[in-house]
This record gives sequence, C-alpha cells and structure tokens, in this order.
Amino acid sequence: MFPNETSEMKQLIKLKAEKELPFQPKELLGMDLAAMREFFKEIKEQPFRATQLYRSIYRHRQTKLEEITEFSKDLRTKLSSLSVVMKQEIDRKFNSQDGTRRYLFKLVDGREIESVWIPEPDRATICISSQVGCPLACEFCLTAQLKLKRNLSVGEIVGQITTVLSDVYGVKQTPDRQINIVMMGMGEPLLNYDNVLAAIRLMNDEEGMAISIRHITLSTAGIVPKIYDLGKEEIRPRLAISLTGATDELRNRLMPINKRYPLKELLKACQEFPLKPRERITFEYVMLKDVTDSDLDAKRLVKLLQGLKAKVNLIPHNPAEELPFESSSTDRVLAFQKILIDSGLSAFIRRPRGQDIFAACGQLAAKSSTGM
Ligand code: SAH
Repeated sequence: MFPNETSEMKQLIKLKAEKELPFQPKELLGMDLAAMREFFKEIKEQPFRATQLYRSIYRHRQTKLEEITEFSKDLRTKLSSLSVVMKQEIDRKFNSQDGTRRYLFKLVDGREIESVWIPEPDRATICISSQVGCPLACEFCLTAQLKLKRNLSVGEIVGQITTVLSDVYGVKQTPDRQINIVMMGMGEPLLNYDNVLAAIRLMNDEEGMAISIRHITLSTAGIVPKIYDLGKEEIRPRLAISLTGATDELRNRLMPINKRYPLKELLKACQEFPLKPRERITFEYVMLKDVTDSDLDAKRLVKLLQGLKAKVNLIPHNPAEELPFESSSTDRVLAFQKILIDSGLSAFIRRPRGQDIFAACGQLAAKSSTGM
C-alpha cells in the first residue's frame, strides 16, 4: 500500500480489486500541466512529479507508466493503478514510394482515423485529423463521404503526433528535424474548436512537445465565426483556408458550407484576422479539370484576394473512383499559377505526396488498400 493515499483512494482500489466498481483509470494523455498537477495533488504527490510525468508523456512519448525511471517503484505502481496513458493503436501503416506514411488508427470505440507522416530533407510534416469523418459535404473530398461520426478528444488529437513520432523515432529520442503540424487530415478542426485549441496548446508547450506555433497550421473550409474566435486566441496556429472556388456560385456547389458563410463574409474574416509581421494566410485551391482551373477562375481568384496578405497553394486534384472530378493537366496548373504570379500573388503548386497509398489531400477515408 502507498504511504500517503487517502481513505477514498483506498476504498477505490479495494473496490477495483473486488470488481464491484467499473473502475475508470484517469486518462493522462490530453491533460495539460495544470490538470496533471491537480491530479497529483488529489493523490497526495508533489507537484514537481506532475511536471516530470508531463515531460515523460509529451516530450518522451512514454506510454508505459511502469517505465518512467525518474519515479520510484512505489510511485510507478501507484500511478499505474490509478491512471493510464492512452496508446493510440496503429491498426495499419501504409508506406508510399516517396517516403510518406499513412497511419490508420483504431480508437477505443473501434472508430478509425488517419494521420500522415510527410518527410522532407530538412523537416517533416505530420498531417493530423480533428474529427472521425467530416460533416462538410465538399464534393471533391473523399473524407466527406464518411460523414461525421464524432469529434476527437484532446488526447486523440495529440496522440496522433506522439504515436507517429514514436513510430519514427522510438521513445525518448528527439526528432532530428523540424516538425510541422498541419490540421488537414479528417474533419473540420473549427467544428471541434475547444479540443483542437487545447491540443494545439499542448503541442506548443515548452515543457512538452515544444513544437513552435509558427509550425502549426490549422486549415478550415470557412467556419466564419470560429475564424474570429481563433483570431482572439493568445496561442494560435497559422491559418489556412480551403477556398477552391472564387465565386459563390461555384463554391456553393463544391463546398456547401459556402451557403452558410459566403465568400464575402469569409474574406472579411480573413481581412480582420490579426496577422503577425510577415505572416500570411494560406489559401488552398484544388485544381479540378474544367471546373476550377480556367484563366477566368485565376483572374477571379486574384481579384478576390486583393489586399490580403495571402499565399496560394494550388493542390492538384487527387482523384478517386468515388469522386466525379478529374485532375487538371500540368500545363493548365502552370498556366493558372502564372496568372496569379504575374498579378503579384505568391502561388505554389503542391506536389501530391503519398498518392499511391491514398494519403494525399482529400484522400483520407480509412481505406485499407496497399497496406503493409
Ligand atoms: N476541413 C478542413 C481540413 C481538411 S484540409 C478544410 O477543409 O480545410 C484538406 C485539404 O484537402 C483541403 O484544403 C481540401 O480542399 C483538400 N482536398 C480535399 N479533397 C481533395 C482532393 N480530392 N484532391 C486534392 N485536395 C483535396
């Protein structure tokens, strides 16, 4: 028995042992430092121990409490009997020829989500999900076809990062390159606002994952009121807007959320978004053959973004059998880009990554093809 446990705890442990109570160990993954300190206070342990635990979980990606060597045997046993660090189970992993890895995670309720590891020579990007499925019915996106199943918890959001990093680097080792996080996986992050923001604060926290806030990007299809909320956050990620359509008519069809928050309102929210010096808003624009890729579309896009500190990422459409669109030709994408650049807009063509394993933009739909 532990020397300083409360009588309540004794009772709890006893009941647990007797299986009289469906004992729910405290889930640690997703807790911030303050909550962890509070928990340690409840179990009559010193607050600095909570900081050690916090570091072990978020910085060292430790999931086994018994293996936290900074703690005495007694404390390890005590913690393991009262709490748990959720391990995000990798159900399957898919390796692309280009080094990209797609992870299929099985959640505690059996639902599935995906994350993508995208290595580059000097950095790596982890694309993570914010919801199971997505409620926005964007016509060109495979995730939309799943519809919304549920929001992810804070632990399930950050757990994608700790698990992917553990898979690549193991436990404890610090990544050998800059890590970028993009909330561009399954789901609409601004419709799971509180959990997403709590997860971002955890990613950014110096004591924990210590990912620079400049390297965290949140992408939204345009939930206007939440863009205003985001602008007021003390710790806020970079903003990316999925635009794909420079007129309301087109956007209403491709992205029905536009009927609720039309372009004028969306662009106004972007205008008013408080950017830091040199910061820009990224606009993602999917190139759909004969739908969004004409010269006129490019000119409209230029006009729409006039006066904004903006950068455009042209995303070649990643086709799928279930989607009624084709990709624009390379020549068309280049001609489109030229119009933007000639008008003074920064415009980049995003090279599709992991297309062969359904890891590219808009392809995340828990597909189990080409698994390894
Ligand atoms: N719901 C958020 C987060 C998802 S980001 C948002 O919409 O921003 C996913 C990105 O992939 C979006 O920019 C979307 O426009 C893009 N995308 C969706 N389907 C695609 C497809 N089939 N090919 C290429 N990009 C796609």
